[in-house]
Amino acid sequence: MRIVPDSKAMQRLTRRWFRRGETVGFVPTMGALHRGHYSLMERARRENDKVVVSVFVNPLQFGPREDFRRYPRPFRADAALCRKAGADALYHPSPASVYPEGFATLVHAGGVSELLEGRARPGHFDGVATVVLKLFEAVRPDRAYFGEKDWQQLVVVRRMAADLDLAVRVVGCPTVRESDGLALSSRNTYLSARERRQAGLISKGLKDAAALAAHGERDCRRLRAAMLKAIAGIAGARVDYVEVADPATLLPLKRLERQGRILAAVRVGKTRLIDNRALRGG
Ligand code: AMP
Repeated sequence: MRIVPDSKAMQRLTRRWFRRGETVGFVPTMGALHRGHYSLMERARRENDKVVVSVFVNPLQFGPREDFRRYPRPFRADAALCRKAGADALYHPSPASVYPEGFATLVHAGGVSELLEGRARPGHFDGVATVVLKLFEAVRPDRAYFGEKDWQQLVVVRRMAADLDLAVRVVGCPTVRESDGLALSSRNTYLSARERRQAGLISKGLKDAAALAAHGERDCRRLRAAMLKAIAGIAGARVDYVEVADPATLLPLKRLERQGRILAAVRVGKTRLIDNRALRGG
């Protein structure tokens, strides 16, 4: 597996593959890799001739009071996992090579980006869209793999790819969970043992809401209430938002007609966790 430090070297490598007619699957990450990331790599491995994983903690998508500096960066373990998954290249640029002095161009993600996570984290999706476009330009993938864990991010990236005529297929992949349902996340390592035990209630709440919907509940206030009730069992949890929304536009729904998505952001102690789940009318 090649470790590639900058965009020019990355482009040279994938151009070579492209000339040989080989397809490239790409998994962008911020590192601190876990089984969730691994499942994306496996899927990319199955569907493409070559696989590129990127590890880059993107300063542009963190707010001033967020965890950019303390975000975990276990690079050796990350590289080992990429190797195990059969990645051909690990793109690992430095912040200075991605954002050199004088960098002045941002992608503004509008529309769906202004809701939910966008409201709670101003500028976050502009940072995501900018780095994803730059990563796509460095790697030039045929397919790029994103987790449903970050549902809104998946919708935003799909929107950007359509709006900017990007020649990449954006592939959404199911959320990988712990045995108690907690969605795997690099940020779970911040949780104390007690917080970790209680954090499972987030996915339980999503599941309760999905079960109610499957039994015919249409009133989205009641679906939200089921979720909020579960979260209330987490000592000191603070809810950023719990919303039942249209899966594509993320606009809030009053009634669940066919399909919806329940999305939540909850602070457990100092750790902000997000999760979501499909709701299907029964
Ligand atoms: P991150 O490193 O957290 O930026 O995530 C990189 C990619 O992995 C994103 O597309 C995430 O949605 C995806 N991902 C993160 N956690 C999970 C999970 N538990 N299951 C599936 N995909 C995930």
